[in-house]
Amino acid sequence: MLTIRTQQGRLIEILLQSELCDPVNMGEYVRAFCHIHGSDHQRSLSINTSNGWGHCFNAECNVTVLVAEWNPGVAQRLIHLYYRGLSPGFSASHQYQSAPRRTPLVSQPLLLHSTNVPPQWQNDERSALLSLDKQMRTALERSRRARAYLNERGISLEVAISNGVCYLPAALLKLPELQKQRGLLNRWAERILLPLTSPAGKGYIGRSLWHWQPGMDENVHKKLLDQPDRPRRWIKTNPAGWFGHDLDQLSGCLILVEGAFDRLALLTAGFRPEVVVALVGTALQIDWFPHEVKSVVLALDGDEGGMDAMRRLAECLARSGLCVSLCPPIQDGCGKDWSEQWRRKGPPSLRPIYEVYTGLLRSA
Ligand SMILES: [Zn+2]
Repeated sequence: MLTIRTQQGRLIEILLQSELCDPVNMGEYVRAFCHIHGSDHQRSLSINTSNGWGHCFNAECNVTVLVAEWNPGVAQRLIHLYYRGLSPGFSASHQYQSAPRRTPLVSQPLLLHSTNVPPQWQNDERSALLSLDKQMRTALERSRRARAYLNERGISLEVAISNGVCYLPAALLKLPELQKQRGLLNRWAERILLPLTSPAGKGYIGRSLWHWQPGMDENVHKKLLDQPDRPRRWIKTNPAGWFGHDLDQLSGCLILVEGAFDRLALLTAGFRPEVVVALVGTALQIDWFPHEVKSVVLALDGDEGGMDAMRRLAECLARSGLCVSLCPPIQDGCGKDWSEQWRRKGPPSLRPIYEVYTGLLRSA
């Protein structure tokens, strides 16, 4: 067992699965006797097997634990921070406990993570898109309509191209050599595609340009698509992931935004690609971050959902030893997200992010 104190002063006990006292599998959770306060009357320790985090329900103990094997990325990060003693105010002490009084039975239920294995058609769809990547990139450069769309959202074509943005024109699917893939790829026609990255590999998210005309307001187009029986505004491959740089090359201080176009707005404004990550509806997985990541600016949407998510994520990130700052867009009627703010107000709209980000860099 390793006891770690985060910058926020929270204590986290990092445990190995073998240290759990007589654990029982309750589905998503595992309950065990708490060897930290030493109770064997009830299994007061409850641990979520999908992320390794748990706590003791005993009010006097209330310990937060992390089972290393169930969240190796975060456990590794915390241990790494501990041994490097990097962050000021971050300290840890470790103690080797004697073996738990109750050795877990060999016959304990298998604690398996749920695995999300995509059906075959989704594998085929993703492969087909990946094989067209080069042609779709060229199509973005050539399509007047796709270029106009980016332009009206205030996105530099150069930034879009260098960050792997591409376009699937309906005409490309008519090529005889794509006859086989046509059925799978039809739903991607007339979409701007943005590459996604995840430990499971590359994927895409696609924004429909169905019935979009140059000069059409973004919110009008959104309403048009949000009606029943219209193409979905956004679709994703499975696995999906984040729209960002390769995970192992992410910067030590990150800015997290919600939407793909929020990220493109920030990049057009001059933020480096390795600094900005768009979650695009994929849950924040701290174990996807490389060890270098120390601080995060949460710049999600300014609506109720975004604010809620920011509060939840801030707690989760802080618990993992990261420095967190919140920076929702100013609610001035110019848009709930950074993309809209950028479209309407240009560079001054991103000043709050710039200030929070540079402040966090200085304090790191
Ligand atoms: Zn306890």
